[in-house]
Amino acid sequence: MEKMRAMVLSECAPVESNPLKLSHIDKHEIKKPNEILLEIEACGVCHSQLHGIEGDWKDIGIPPFLPTVPGHEVVGKVVEIGKDVTKFKVGDRAGVTPLLEACKTCQYCKEGKEYLCESSTVTGESFRGGYTEYITVSEDFATKVPQDMKAEYAAPLFCAGITAYKAVKAAEPQTHKKIGIFGIGGVGHMAVQFAKVEGVDVIAFSRSKNHLNVAKRLGAKDTMVFSDSQDEFLQEIKAKHGMLDAAIVFAPADIVTDTAIKAVKKGGLIVIATVGKNPEFMAFEEKTIRGTLIGSTKDMEQVIKICNEKNLEVITETYPLEEANEVLKKLKNSEIEARAVLIP
Ligand SMILES: [Zn+2]
Ligand SMILES: [Zn+2]
Repeated sequence: MEKMRAMVLSECAPVESNPLKLSHIDKHEIKKPNEILLEIEACGVCHSQLHGIEGDWKDIGIPPFLPTVPGHEVVGKVVEIGKDVTKFKVGDRAGVTPLLEACKTCQYCKEGKEYLCESSTVTGESFRGGYTEYITVSEDFATKVPQDMKAEYAAPLFCAGITAYKAVKAAEPQTHKKIGIFGIGGVGHMAVQFAKVEGVDVIAFSRSKNHLNVAKRLGAKDTMVFSDSQDEFLQEIKAKHGMLDAAIVFAPADIVTDTAIKAVKKGGLIVIATVGKNPEFMAFEEKTIRGTLIGSTKDMEQVIKICNEKNLEVITETYPLEEANEVLKKLKNSEIEARAVLIP
């Protein structure tokens, strides 16, 4: 059997101990007539992998089993197609989101919310992940990537990009609607731009001055350094901007979620795109809290289209596949500006 290089996780452990081991595993082969085989060009390193690899999310069932090949922002070239494939031909390019496959028959799949499917397969939660050279995917869950779109640009769109896009959509964007974006990293810097496309007045919040400079450059109307001194911080926001119409939370910290809820006007909307608790919620303020998770294949097509047409910026830095452990350490130490991408 042909082999491929992969960074395999056999046991959850701190990234300092280099838990990913370079291994030679069986190369994937097309097993169903509707599958395509991608030769991976790039795979983004998502913050969620850091939590999954270190075992932070064991209590919510991530990773569901080991060993795995992590990675769920995958872009590659179609090198082989199953006999029933119609959407792709050999030589096309395609990308894969965290949703590797869904059942296509349940209520969620039928209403176009296949990312909520309870019999789905998640990319990177088996040997079918992106930190390697090849992956197979059913054609229905792959999205075309234009030939001239750089791989390191396209890869982060398949989790960071779609998450940002869908969170902005969930915040019901409108021209001059005042939306606070809390957390400006790989996902947040894309959200600023998707919100700008909709004419939104973006106020960006982050603990990092660097990230705020990025947000400003990408079109945020104002930026503010996030502070844990909640009362003062809320007063500062109010003095500068009044209450927010809506807020989007990407930062995985309960204090940030709580602050975002309190910064939004009565009747306003808070979109939460991260894991955590909502400490306080006052029913009589008529606020709406809405959760969001990646997006559908249709959403993914929109992301590619908008990024291509509007030339949105994706801030990336590339590393060889073998350096995955080093990249995760950098991510943990906040040394990655927005998105790191592994090149096999
Ligand atoms: Zn991700
Ligand atoms: Zn389903």
